[in-house]
Amino acid sequence: MNDAPTIPVSFRTSGTNLKRAKTHNHRVVLEVIRTRGPIGRTEISEITSLSRQTVQNIVAELESGGIVVMHAGKASGRGHPGMNVQIKADHAFSLGFHVDRLSVTAIVCDLLGKIVWEKSVSLTASSPDAANAQIIQLAEDFRVSNDEIAGRLFGVGLAAPGPFETNEGNVSGADATNFSEFGSEENLERLQEALGLPVVLQNDASAAALGEHVYGIGRNFNSFAFVQFGMGLGAGLVLNGALYPGATKNAGEIGHVCVNPVGPECTCGNRGCLEKYLSLNVLCEKLKLEPTALASVARIEELFDQNNQTVLDWMSDAAPYVRQMVSIIDMMLDTEAIVLGGIIKPEFLEALLERAAPLPNPPYGSRGETNRIRIGTSGATAVALGATAAAVDALYAPQVSHLLL
Ligand SMILES: [Zn+2]
Repeated sequence: MNDAPTIPVSFRTSGTNLKRAKTHNHRVVLEVIRTRGPIGRTEISEITSLSRQTVQNIVAELESGGIVVMHAGKASGRGHPGMNVQIKADHAFSLGFHVDRLSVTAIVCDLLGKIVWEKSVSLTASSPDAANAQIIQLAEDFRVSNDEIAGRLFGVGLAAPGPFETNEGNVSGADATNFSEFGSEENLERLQEALGLPVVLQNDASAAALGEHVYGIGRNFNSFAFVQFGMGLGAGLVLNGALYPGATKNAGEIGHVCVNPVGPECTCGNRGCLEKYLSLNVLCEKLKLEPTALASVARIEELFDQNNQTVLDWMSDAAPYVRQMVSIIDMMLDTEAIVLGGIIKPEFLEALLERAAPLPNPPYGSRGETNRIRIGTSGATAVALGATAAAVDALYAPQVSHLLL
């Protein structure tokens, strides 16, 4: 019978058998140690609701596998100091790539997000094939220069601008370079085979959100939106402690929210999208700079430092759209904070925010102006860092956030 109700995907993963449950418990304990360590076993037991004996057994196994190390904690009150568990940061490494239409940045991180290798190259052409070639070359460069660490790589995180192709077909009105094909299943399989490692994909804004959540200012929030301000405009959403990717990994494409039904045509095929007013691409047009040239961002920063009138005028024009963006995020998601980041320096984003003040307050009450919008802390490497965090999350850790809270 074909008319049986479809079982939601989330239910299909709930079946357990003992072997799988054991693996799951290992991953839960490991994730708690990674994100909250150094930490005592009693505390792990309290957070995970696993028995103390189970936690002790799992920690002993992780220790003998070289994944965690034990060391004496601080004495508190009477009695002996307990032993704390900490991740052995150099047990394994992940490789993250930030791919955009202009360049590819690769970083290698240990399990605690410390960057041990970094390299950026320009793209010879704005196409998935050119990006693939550079990714494979960068991975090879790393392997040649760090033979020993390369043997401990466990996965690859890729971050690229969305929207991505879905199984249902191409993104409508796709960009001329068909860069959305980069995220297609076929392309990911090709890369996985060439790199010899499992590959995980996120859109660049989601990766940056994850980077901020694990290593940056997002650590302070359980729910926030990260806005990636670049040639386009995208958002990554961390909701209830977990990244929200959306059904086709395209959640947060706020740049393509229509803010003017009779506005200029957008590459997505619609009219008056937010990023037609609020993106570096628009500013490039005003300054007659080439948006596909890497040097254009540096030139904008230079002109901004010189108080260039065209840049300042554009900021005044764009300010109402910053307010609109904040309002859309607030009304839809009610997050604790909005973190603003991207490919331009923080001072530029701060100046843009200043012009947008006062920001609209939701009708259900004032949040105050000062803490709602923050500038991202991880800087330009946030996206690549987020790509490695995505690999750690997908390949090392369960979606424990929901289990913990
Ligand atoms: Zn659009």
